[in-house]
Parts: sequence; C-alpha cells; structure tokens
Amino acid sequence: MKLTSAQKAEKIREAAEEAIARLMKWEEENGAPNLTQIEDEVLEVRREFGEAIVAVLLEGQEARQPVQAPKCEQCGGEMTYKGRKARWVEGRAGEVAIERGYYYCAHCRSGLFPPGPPT
Ligand SMILES: [Zn+2]
Repeated sequence: MKLTSAQKAEKIREAAEEAIARLMKWEEENGAPNLTQIEDEVLEVRREFGEAIVAVLLEGQEARQPVQAPKCEQCGGEMTYKGRKARWVEGRAGEVAIERGYYYCAHCRSGLFPPGPPT
C-alpha cells in the first residue's frame, strides 16, 4: 500500500496517542510508582511506539521499491512469487511484523523474503 507522507505521519501520530493513553492509564492504576517502575513502563511504551514507527516506514519503503522475482541462490532458477506473508523480525527497536513478498524455489524447496537471505 502506497502511503503519502501525510498518511504516514497520521499513523505515527495515532501510535503516539496510543502510547500516551497507555501511559496515562498506567499512571492512574499505579498510585505511587517508584523510579524503576516508571522507567520499566516508559521503556515498554517506547519500545511499542518504536515498533509502530518502524512498521509504518517499512510499509512505505516497500511500496516505493517493488521487488522483482529473484534468482535462487542455490540453483540459479527463477523463484516463484507466493504472495505477501508476514515475517517477524527482531530489530533494534523491538520486534516488528513485516509483510513482504515471499518467493519459493520448488527445485530446492527454499524460500526467500527479498532482500533477505534464504530461509
Ligand atoms: Zn533453487
């Protein structure tokens, strides 16, 4: 899905609102948290917000760079497009679900989420 900058900004803003709402709810439910408890909650909220931003930017990036059917690294044959599949990736901003085009080589029975290595 191709998103404009304004649409991406809106999605990130929504994620920020969710993060703030979660923090406010947490604060109401936890009368007098100490510094460590506050830090733990803020780090968790920050991680979720970071994941949301990464997901929005990744989505936009793939829309700009459609992937051509790649060649199989093992046999050199052209791989078959199998549609978009979600793949969970552990990044530095936390875990994000990335929907990518998935390719499969029937000969080698190997799959690929370009531009990543064979899986
Ligand atoms: Zn192959």
